[in-house]
Amino acid sequence: MNELKAMIREVPDFPKPGINFYDITTLLKNPSGLKKTLDALKERYKGSQIDTVVGIEARGFFFAPAVAYALGAGFVPVRKPGKLPYRTKQMEYELEYGTDRLEIHEDAIQPGQRVLIVDDVLATGGTARAVAELVGQSGGRLEGLSFVIELDFLKGRERLPGHDIFSLLHY
Ligand code: AMP
Repeated sequence: MNELKAMIREVPDFPKPGINFYDITTLLKNPSGLKKTLDALKERYKGSQIDTVVGIEARGFFFAPAVAYALGAGFVPVRKPGKLPYRTKQMEYELEYGTDRLEIHEDAIQPGQRVLIVDDVLATGGTARAVAELVGQSGGRLEGLSFVIELDFLKGRERLPGHDIFSLLHY
C-alpha cells in the first residue's frame, strides 16, 4: 500500500490555503497503480453480489464504472444539480460554508438492489452520507461504501454509522 501512496501526489494549499489535496491523477496514469487499486477494490467485494455501483461526481467517476465492470454490476452516477436529464431525487448536504446538492435519477436503483458507493476520498463524510441517504430513499440495500483514500483525522466514518466502510489507503 505504501507503493500506492507513493503514486499519489500531495498538493499543499489546494484549492485553498490549509487544504492538503490528495491528487489521484498520478495514481490513475500509472498502469500498475491503476490495476492494483481496481483489483484491491474488486477483491474486497467479489463475494458480495453487488448489483449497482454508485459513483459520486466527479472523481468517483474515475473508479466506480471500472469497479462495476469488475464485479459484473451496473453503474449509476450521482451528479451535481441540473446535470441529469430525467426526474431526480435530491439531497442537500452541508459544506464548510453553505450547502450543496446531489441528484440521482429516481428510477436508477430498484428496491432491494444491492448497492456499493464508490468515491476517491472520504474526508468529513458529508458527501458520502448524502449519497447513502439517496440510496436508502431509492429502496436500495447499501452493502458498503468504498474509498481509495480515507482522511482518518476528519472522522468521516463517524457520520456513516452502521455502514460497512472500506478504504484502501489511510492518512
Ligand atoms: P467530504 O464530504 O468532506 O467527505 O468530502 C468528500 C469529497 O471532497 C470527496 O469527493 C473528495 O473528492 C473531496 N475531497 C475532500 N478533501 C479532499 C482532499 N484533501 N484531497 C482530495 N479530495 C478531497
